[in-house]
Amino acid sequence: MSQGESTETRRYEFREFQGPIEASAYPLPEPEGAGVLLRVDYCGVCHSDVHIHEGYYAIGDGKRMSFADRGVVPPVTLGHEIVGTVVRKGPDAGDVAIGAQRLVYPWIGCGTCSACRRQEENMCAAPRYLGVFAPGGYADHVLVPDARYLVDIDGLDPATAAPLACSGLTTYSAIHKVLPLADGQWIAIVGCGGLGQIALRLLEAMGETNVIAVDVSDDKLALAKQAGAAAVVNATDADAATQLSRRAGGELAAVLDFVGNEQTANLALAALGKGGRYVLVGLHGGELRYPLPFIATKALLITGSYVGRLDELQSLVDFVRDRKMAGIPVEHRSMQAADGAVRDLAAGKVAGRIILSSEKA
Ligand SMILES: [Zn+2]
Ligand SMILES: [Zn+2]
Repeated sequence: MSQGESTETRRYEFREFQGPIEASAYPLPEPEGAGVLLRVDYCGVCHSDVHIHEGYYAIGDGKRMSFADRGVVPPVTLGHEIVGTVVRKGPDAGDVAIGAQRLVYPWIGCGTCSACRRQEENMCAAPRYLGVFAPGGYADHVLVPDARYLVDIDGLDPATAAPLACSGLTTYSAIHKVLPLADGQWIAIVGCGGLGQIALRLLEAMGETNVIAVDVSDDKLALAKQAGAAAVVNATDADAATQLSRRAGGELAAVLDFVGNEQTANLALAALGKGGRYVLVGLHGGELRYPLPFIATKALLITGSYVGRLDELQSLVDFVRDRKMAGIPVEHRSMQAADGAVRDLAAGKVAGRIILSSEKA
């Protein structure tokens, strides 16, 4: 392929929510300033791509939050787990080499709001997230507005490094909202699918042993035990909250909820001990109804966690490299198969992470 020399690039985009994801040709962009243009080598297919493609989140009582109302305007090129090779760079892009393969930090902010000035671009008031508000990695090329968003992944397998930008970072950042635990305290991981499995493996690599896994599937709980969980609880048991609290010896200090529905939220709040921290990550949706006095008297902390910061992605990549952590299981598909990949993920037909690859183009 000679994409570096071509004057056109393809983006796999949808022109209306739920519509087909199809290739469109665009002129190959020329990066300005500190910007860089990458040829996309690998791009992960994330569950939030499914939500964006559907066009809404469920927010309880049959109500929906529409992405269109939040400024996501088709045509949309999805894809925020991107590993690419630098093919062009702007005059101020610094010393990143043409031909360098890099992971892209996609949670790019406006650069001027107070969150951005605090280096919390993932909390930006006017975000430019790649694959959400700006064209993402379901494409031959992706334009990154500043070379500082490129993360060196030397020593890592590039295909399995791609999901670090979202599923890895989301998990890593959520874990860091509750660590360190005091001696004798426990943490529960609710939802042992993709993110939950990553959380279990990260916690094991961090030396955390007081970990309880919660899921509705005994198969996933068996996998969770292999991934280092010291105990498991099936959330469909009528006394699941009591089991969870008892397994922790009454010292359940934190719950990371990677499901995020009404059942998991209520389970977590019922099981947490005094001063417990409930970190909500999953976006299944619904509504929380909980007696307010208990939040005060148990001094519960309820917090959301959304992706993570650039410096957290850099330290996650260093952590994975230092600990020689194996990548998550991936399923390779060609970029042209993006439409089927998103629909298969929506239908629950995907076991590992789908990685779209331009190599098979
Ligand atoms: Zn994602
Ligand atoms: Zn901002």
